[in-house]
Amino acid sequence: MPERTYLITPGPTPVPPEVAAAMARPLIHHRSPDFKLLLEQTLAQLRRAFATEQEVLLFAGSGTSAMESAMAPGDDILVASAGNFGDRWTKIARAYGIEPRIHAQPWGEALDPAAVAAQAQGAVAVYITHSETSTGVVHDVRAIAEALRPAGALLVVDAVSSLGGVELAMDEWGIDVVVSGSQKALMTPPGLAFAAASQRAWAISEQAALPRFTLDWRVTRDSQEKVQTPYTPPITLVAGLNTALGMIEAEGLESVWARNRLLGRASREGAKALGLELFSPDDDSSSMVTAVQMPDGVDGQEVYRLLRDRFGVVLAGGHGPLRGKVIRIGHMGYMNRFDIITALSALELVLGDLGYRAPSAGAGAARAVEVFAQLETSRV
Ligand code: PMP
Repeated sequence: MPERTYLITPGPTPVPPEVAAAMARPLIHHRSPDFKLLLEQTLAQLRRAFATEQEVLLFAGSGTSAMESAMAPGDDILVASAGNFGDRWTKIARAYGIEPRIHAQPWGEALDPAAVAAQAQGAVAVYITHSETSTGVVHDVRAIAEALRPAGALLVVDAVSSLGGVELAMDEWGIDVVVSGSQKALMTPPGLAFAAASQRAWAISEQAALPRFTLDWRVTRDSQEKVQTPYTPPITLVAGLNTALGMIEAEGLESVWARNRLLGRASREGAKALGLELFSPDDDSSSMVTAVQMPDGVDGQEVYRLLRDRFGVVLAGGHGPLRGKVIRIGHMGYMNRFDIITALSALELVLGDLGYRAPSAGAGAARAVEVFAQLETSRV
């Protein structure tokens, strides 16, 4: 693989030098006053990122472990899915011996709030995904939360690839559980997982009988109340996250969201200018990941490998039925306009080698530049 790599994926995303530098500082002990201060600050930053007054629980693990920690309310749950990560909720439920009700929509569709609510009657909890990373769809969590209100089921949201990158107002929208991870919009290496729960979700989880140990919410909450962690935490990652969240706050969450929308727009326009079709929605809702369909006869996995091995440009391939059919460009986290221009140019070069001709040389990058040039500001 070329030495210089461009991580333009929907996670893990590039780590800013400031974050890397924070993680390179000498290790501190997790029972020291220095760590206590770091943890206290970081937990407060996380509450702001989650837009919640509730405690955000911190676990060592990838995003999936926070998802697993939320699999607690008992037997009658509904999983609403239109993609790979929605389906993961079902796999986790089954691993715990729960057979969920399933509301399935074709991959690439946005979940239909009324249809989800109709199937949620009587269920204890509904499990959904915010940004469905496999398809590029960002589901309308706010509308789903509203539609579910009369049924009274808890709403559990996987925000692993959205938190910090697109609006998600946990308390205001009435979401009961939000889970996330460090390695996507939060610009920190993989290894930290988060879960926050409403009072209602806490009450139900207290009665849950599923087995738990390291992922037990109560143990973590009791410890965090004393500004501690129950086990040795990934101290270095907490230091990195603290810096990353500080950078996000300094920029302002809304400008981060606006940047992601803009990078998404440029990705879509550029891909279309290359003569390619989009799999993800062609609108600003798709601000985390753009999924581009590969031309007939071109294997997306081959494109993915050539991009990586020849140019060090790491995009993402397709999951499940989309394997070989799409290439995904991530535009969350520490990314800017030149990442998108790089992705589009590299894609054009590799597709050219595989016999696909773009309408004109550089068409994708040129269109992206046009999108950026229309802006009043050169930031982003
Ligand atoms: N949910 C979504 C929406 C994701 O994008 C991912 C990671 N691609 C996960 C869950 C799983 O996260 P992790 O790989 O950190 O366990």
